[in-house]
Amino acid sequence: MLIRTCPTCGSDKIKKVQRDWTDEFEGQFYTVPNLEFWVCPNCGERIYDREAMRKIEAHSPAFAKPRTPRARAKARVPVTAGARAAA
Ligand SMILES: [Zn+2]
Repeated sequence: MLIRTCPTCGSDKIKKVQRDWTDEFEGQFYTVPNLEFWVCPNCGERIYDREAMRKIEAHSPAFAKPRTPRARAKARVPVTAGARAAA
């Protein structure tokens, strides 16, 4: 994916950087090591291409596959009356 200008301010000075990237999801911090993304020196915007998004999703608890009953509820999986007895 080619990114030439900042989607926020339109600056063409954005540059690609590679560094550990940390974010927080519902109080849970997670790190994506050596993530490549774009930074706009004009407004500070950070832009992630598809590959970067894929790496973030692979590390983020927000995109984690549901394993616990609580996670399933957040994923809005329909709960039937029978499932309640099994829990
Ligand atoms: Zn910008």
